[in-house]
Amino acid sequence: MTGFSTQIFIYFYAMIINDSNRHKGLRNQLVSTIKAKGIADKLVLQAISKVPRHLFMDSGFVDFAYQDKPFPIGSDQTISQPYTVAFQTELLAVQPGQKILEIGTGSGYQTAILIELEAEVYSIERQKELYNKVKKFLPKVGYVPKKLVFGDGYIGLAENAPFDGILVTAGAPFVPKPLLGQLKIGGRLVIPVGDETQVMTVYTRTSENKFDKHEYGDFKFVPMLKEKN
Ligand code: SAH
Repeated sequence: MTGFSTQIFIYFYAMIINDSNRHKGLRNQLVSTIKAKGIADKLVLQAISKVPRHLFMDSGFVDFAYQDKPFPIGSDQTISQPYTVAFQTELLAVQPGQKILEIGTGSGYQTAILIELEAEVYSIERQKELYNKVKKFLPKVGYVPKKLVFGDGYIGLAENAPFDGILVTAGAPFVPKPLLGQLKIGGRLVIPVGDETQVMTVYTRTSENKFDKHEYGDFKFVPMLKEKN
């Protein structure tokens, strides 16, 4: 084997040994749990059943990976609750090949779910440590985003706009204008808006200057912060 194919072999071998039937069984249970909570989109449920969430968490938490709960991932941040990931993904209504911008890469779990749905994913993270970690990690487990950016989600990603969908995975105190401006006509912005708790809100761009707005109940996210660090 050449050096490159040896490396590929090692990655896939590592994936196989680290993703056992036990993990798959736990994922199927998780799918049943979030289905019972109201997630109906088959492709979203299928994506949850495929992505090995335990590999996205620090080793100490592996046993908790398939509970429907958020968990710490370092730098004072969390990997979102699977139900919340599924709910936001369902609202985004991703079609294969669509260009999606995610704000808040974090552990990369949501990024991987979007890649499972065959989206072309751009993702922005403002914490350098998390950005460095996820940039190395995602390709190792077979998920290759189109672009990962160390930057500020409040300004979006003008150079790659417009997007079919923008998904904000941190609590936004207000709706950043640039994000609305970076949507295609017909595109959707899924964003939890508020300070202590957030209202899940979807903006659909119906024309150059018009947006439809719908609200989908209360959630609790870590705050979307200003300035990179
Ligand atoms: N999608 C992530 C959720 C992580 S929590 C996952 O599946 O694991 C929210 C993330 O948003 C954190 O990693 C946090 O550092 C990041 N974040 C907070 N403010 C941000 C901003 N202004 N721009 C980009 N990312 C931000």
